[in-house]
Amino acid sequence: MPQGLLIVFTGNGKGKTTAALGMAMRAAGHGLKVCFIQFIKGGWHYGELDAVKRFAGLIDFHVMGRGFTWKSDNIEEDARLAREAWDFACGAIASGRYHTVVLDEFTYLLHYHMLPLDPCLDVLAGRPPGQQVVVTGRYAPEQLVAAADLVTEMQAVKHPLTSGIKAQQGIEF
Ligand code: ATP
Ligand code: MG
Repeated sequence: MPQGLLIVFTGNGKGKTTAALGMAMRAAGHGLKVCFIQFIKGGWHYGELDAVKRFAGLIDFHVMGRGFTWKSDNIEEDARLAREAWDFACGAIASGRYHTVVLDEFTYLLHYHMLPLDPCLDVLAGRPPGQQVVVTGRYAPEQLVAAADLVTEMQAVKHPLTSGIKAQQGIEF
């Protein structure tokens, strides 16, 4: 019986979302079903959106919050959208259809208290046996780290942005 892990990619360095995409690819390569949910989307057209179309039937990709970035000037609306997005994720987790569920940039919803932490941790703990959940984003709450089986903190040693190299297609998006 495979042991579904709770995995967290956090920290200030680059590589969290791309690590989660790598795991999704790896699972899909074995014919295992993946649900990849992006909680926050920047303004770019992300290459992964088109790349996963080539894995149709294996990787279900969803951008929540209707594809915009959460804005803090309307906290109530943000919280409502956060709940809606989380409800969707709960459905994917509970469906039992997926070997892997990725909650990309989910840590921000917890960090900024858009969702109550304990019920979210309960859902993660109660996921179907054998299901792997990957959570990405900076500022992973301590309790999430404590609950996880695998936590990697990306450390920003160098980033091209600080030497004036702008975000590039195929690298950042
Ligand atoms: P990626 O999607 O490339 O794996 P990430 O998920 O680790 O990056 P996020 O925190 O989600 O990073 O931020 C997304 C964007 O911010 C990326 O374009 C990334 O290059 C950029 N970024 C990440 N870390 C840094 C940093 N230390 N300094 C400046 N920009 C950064
Ligand atoms: Mg990311």
